[in-house]
Amino acid sequence: MHPYTRGLMASIPRSRPASRTALVPVKGQPPNLSQLPLGCSFNPRCSEALDRCRRDMPELMKANDKHLHACWAAPHV
Ligand code: SF4
Repeated sequence: MHPYTRGLMASIPRSRPASRTALVPVKGQPPNLSQLPLGCSFNPRCSEALDRCRRDMPELMKANDKHLHACWAAPHV
């Protein structure tokens, strides 16, 4: 559900021919940990970033009965 997790999963090389597709790298560079951006730390690299992402750090929200995520754009219950 989380855009960064989807990006990481899409960037994993596949060895089986049936599952080979073009790698989709996560754009940009990881942030400087001593100068994190305002809001969600992933917002400069996130293709789904909203205005709110550049302002407010997302809190942990319930995604379903077994999972939590911290993302303003991901579905939650
Ligand atoms: S909170 Fe916003 S910037 Fe952060 S991962 Fe979710 S959509 Fe992307």
